[in-house]
Amino acid sequence: MNSNAVIAIHGGAGTILRASLSASAETEYHAALHAVLSAGQRILADGGSALDAVSEAVRLLEDCPLFNAGRGAVYTAAGTHELDAAIMDGSTLQAGAICCVKRVRNPILAARSVLERSEHVLFTGDGAEAFAAAQGLEFVEPAYFDTEARHRQWLLARDQQRAVLDHDGATLAATVTASFQKGEGEPMPHEPIDPNRKFGTVGAVALDQHGHVAAATSTGGVTNKQVGRVGDTPLIGAGCYADDATCAVSTTGSGEMFMRMVAAYDVAAQMAYRNVSLQEAAHDVVMNRLPKIDGRGGLIAVDARGNVTLPFNTEGMYRGFARLGETPVTAIYR
Ligand code: ASP
Repeated sequence: MNSNAVIAIHGGAGTILRASLSASAETEYHAALHAVLSAGQRILADGGSALDAVSEAVRLLEDCPLFNAGRGAVYTAAGTHELDAAIMDGSTLQAGAICCVKRVRNPILAARSVLERSEHVLFTGDGAEAFAAAQGLEFVEPAYFDTEARHRQWLLARDQQRAVLDHDGATLAATVTASFQKGEGEPMPHEPIDPNRKFGTVGAVALDQHGHVAAATSTGGVTNKQVGRVGDTPLIGAGCYADDATCAVSTTGSGEMFMRMVAAYDVAAQMAYRNVSLQEAAHDVVMNRLPKIDGRGGLIAVDARGNVTLPFNTEGMYRGFARLGETPVTAIYR
């Protein structure tokens, strides 16, 4: 039995605006991360698989409206929600993913069904929903994913006719803050990481007591994205990857850049081909390679020896990890 079992999670990365800091919101985020880590930790402590730990952690994060996945997902340009998720088992290299689903309550469970019960890896839209329905997964009305905070975020983005991933030049967040100062409009609910410049997405990676790793990632995508747009999250190798021989990785950030860098797989590939440590490989991807194409965000990763790394190149990333028998560690800022 491997006594280095560990789980790590993230709830998105982004820019922290001083104006949006609120002690009570911060406490709420820490508490949510702590609860999810404790649940994952229990599964691992009971001898459960890394696959079970990451799918349960991501399911809980999807159900929590604080994060941009499942309930609390961001809005598309049409005012709808389109959800993506992926999961991978490092012991078998089996993977499952779904994208552009609108009514599956927990996209990660649909991805897991694909992994376990389909010869395919990725299903999209209507086909993904038909597959999920055939597996008996829970469906909800699209309004289930609505939250007031994300709706306001979308209205702001839409008014500016942009997808909120554009971090060049003046930011939407800065604009919004300026308009508050002028007394226009209602302030957004306070979040420790400015919601307008945050890459949402949730993810988990784990090493179990049997020495196996797994990764899972789930997202609503980016605010005001075009209908049908798919980011890195459900793409194996870009937003999610796991291989016992190297590591398990879950990413969050500007999805287009993570796709172009095949970011999650690059961490594993660097370990395999350059023979570098988990930390060195992850650091290179996040701090050197992604910034070359303006890729912003971060990732979480574990290897089969129980090493954990959580690098990000933004001001903050909701994150944490928990080892067996130890109090979970959570953090938001650098
Ligand atoms: N990577 C996600 C996407 O592009 C967004 C995020 O991480 O918040 O869909």
